[in-house]
Amino acid sequence: MKIITEYRSIAFAALERAINLIDEDEISNLTYAALELRMALECLIYQKASFYKDELSDEEFSKWQPQKLLGVLLEIDEHADQSVEMVIESSEGSEYFEPIKLGPERLLSMREIKKHYHALGSYLHAQRYPDKTDSKSRTKLKKRLSDLSKIIESAVNSPLQDVDIPRFSKMDCKFCGELIVRRLPLNDENVLAKCKSCSAKYLIHIEQNRIGWEVCRAQLSCANNDCQKDISIGIHEVKEKKRVICPDCDQISQIRYCVVPCSAEEES
Ligand SMILES: [Zn+2]
Ligand SMILES: [Zn+2]
Repeated sequence: MKIITEYRSIAFAALERAINLIDEDEISNLTYAALELRMALECLIYQKASFYKDELSDEEFSKWQPQKLLGVLLEIDEHADQSVEMVIESSEGSEYFEPIKLGPERLLSMREIKKHYHALGSYLHAQRYPDKTDSKSRTKLKKRLSDLSKIIESAVNSPLQDVDIPRFSKMDCKFCGELIVRRLPLNDENVLAKCKSCSAKYLIHIEQNRIGWEVCRAQLSCANNDCQKDISIGIHEVKEKKRVICPDCDQISQIRYCVVPCSAEEES
């Protein structure tokens, strides 16, 4: 898949076009400005997503709505929408070494995307009732466009850009052999990893720089009543009609969902 790495410059160009249109009073100009700002929002999230490409499946990476794409990024990195500030300072706290602030990287937050993206979209369709083309609505739209353009401007012109200092752990999938790359959190909390190819799930244990990958498994019982031995499969393999062979008695068992009657008093 081809990646455009300079989404930021596309966002900048869209922002400039939008700013030139916002001062106009014609509803058509404001509509075009809304379209340009939506594109700018998309581009800034695509720019961020390009740093996570190795950790996302093609399906996840190709999500085009910023809210959904950012949601995927937040699943693997809870800081993906948080602005950061970098400071260089002496590790020993020397009084002769003035800390150097490299400035913040301004990122768009999920809250901002949720607030603005779909709201702008409502202006990009033919208007029914209530009419959004009257003077009061135009003033409201101009205010929204103006507020959003300031947010996008601060992100596009952020003093620090594309900060990404991740630490990764990698492992070949035990089920399909595909290389799995997982970004590790800054703190040493355990994290889940998923194979892009077969969806196998792993729990990564992190303890004092020791990293261990554990397959997330489900335990089944052999369907042979004379055997009933435990059979372990990957949790991603638990699907209707999945067949498993008992290593003890060679009985083939099949996973089936079923519906059974229950009383009204039973808890769901
Ligand atoms: Zn796999
Ligand atoms: Zn068996």
